[in-house]
Amino acid sequence: MAEFTLTVLGTRGSMAVDGADYTLFGGATSCYMIRAGEETVFWDAGSGLIRAEVDFPKPPVILISHLHLDHLLGLGMYPRLTRKGLETRICVPASDGADAEAGLNQLYSPPLWPVSMKLYAGDIRVEELSLPMRLGEVLIEGMAGSHPGDCVIMKLSYKGRSVVYMTDYEHQERFSDPLIDFVREADLVLYDGQYKVDEYETKKGFGHSTVEKGAELMDQASIRKMLIVHHDPQSTDEILLEREKAIGRKDIRFARQGETIELL
Ligand SMILES: [Zn+2]
Ligand SMILES: [Zn+2]
Repeated sequence: MAEFTLTVLGTRGSMAVDGADYTLFGGATSCYMIRAGEETVFWDAGSGLIRAEVDFPKPPVILISHLHLDHLLGLGMYPRLTRKGLETRICVPASDGADAEAGLNQLYSPPLWPVSMKLYAGDIRVEELSLPMRLGEVLIEGMAGSHPGDCVIMKLSYKGRSVVYMTDYEHQERFSDPLIDFVREADLVLYDGQYKVDEYETKKGFGHSTVEKGAELMDQASIRKMLIVHHDPQSTDEILLEREKAIGRKDIRFARQGETIELL
């Protein structure tokens, strides 16, 4: 097993889906697991988190990009959080003056959820997402994205390699210089390509982008590989395969639930 990997646990945007039309790319919502040496970092806690493994050499850190439901949905049913004595850090961005715990409790408390996370048996540490963050040899940096209610773009670096998580991102006409610098020469960028170009025209302001814009960023910032994420619930395997073929580049793929990518 490589010492630096990214596993796609859930890549669906907005809403989980299932059924025969979604077997290749998967139906679980946003969740990615990065293993770097002894460190484990999760990006988001969508329904993909439910099937994640539970035991790690060191307590994992779950970094939440923003508080939309599709990025939090799996947290309440992740088995590790109910195991006595197991520590898990959950880092949540502050929103509208609410602290991290209050932000999480908007979903994880009655009436929307039966209990608050305080009642879980695991040792759960909720804190405000504060970047940059260091975990051993891992560095995680962040910058503000572009999404209704905000969303943090995160870059994780380890031993000279880097991977960027750019979900729930709506492009502007031009990519800003600070953004291009932030993602420059990244080994892998996870980019929100939820919409087809014509769909985007009717969904401006919804907070998502297109694979075509992703390709533009890739060339401007010399990104090595791109994984398109946040698949629309209406995008069946057939549609996603067609879109992947249409973009016609070996360095751009649409993320498939269950795949592991080696980064080192
Ligand atoms: Zn989302
Ligand atoms: Zn969102």
